[in-house]
Amino acid sequence: MDYVQSPKDADGCIFCTRPAAGDDEEYLIVLRGELAYAMLNLYPYNNGHLLIAPYDHEAQLDRLDPATQQEMLTLSTRCMKVIREAMQATGFNFGANLGSAAGAGIAEHVHLHVVPRWVGDTNFMPVLGHTKVQVQGLRETRDLLARALAEPEE
Ligand SMILES: [Zn+2]
Repeated sequence: MDYVQSPKDADGCIFCTRPAAGDDEEYLIVLRGELAYAMLNLYPYNNGHLLIAPYDHEAQLDRLDPATQQEMLTLSTRCMKVIREAMQATGFNFGANLGSAAGAGIAEHVHLHVVPRWVGDTNFMPVLGHTKVQVQGLRETRDLLARALAEPEE
């Protein structure tokens, strides 16, 4: 069912429509590059959970051109550096679920996950599932990271 209901083209794809909407604050986008961008996951595993996606609607990482692959990694490492500094994260889970078989929620548009970690945070994770407070939390986290990412790189 998930496969049947998931978007087949860019029109119904959040990774396409959100950056195209031009309201990065509303759509929780924290950083834009030339070929890819970073936004907060609406269903975070942890505070500051980011998704790094290309603007191109492409399912396979290997079908992206090398410049796009490169920029996705560059944006990811820049976000991790800023999250370490601005949120005092001490570790990250970093990677991708490629294809529905691997657990990708939206398999049609490839994206990388950057999940900040803190020692002892496992008890905190189930809290971040489904409260209203979370939306406010996402906005605050978005503002914090967007501001930190707007600073020139050292
Ligand atoms: Zn897409």
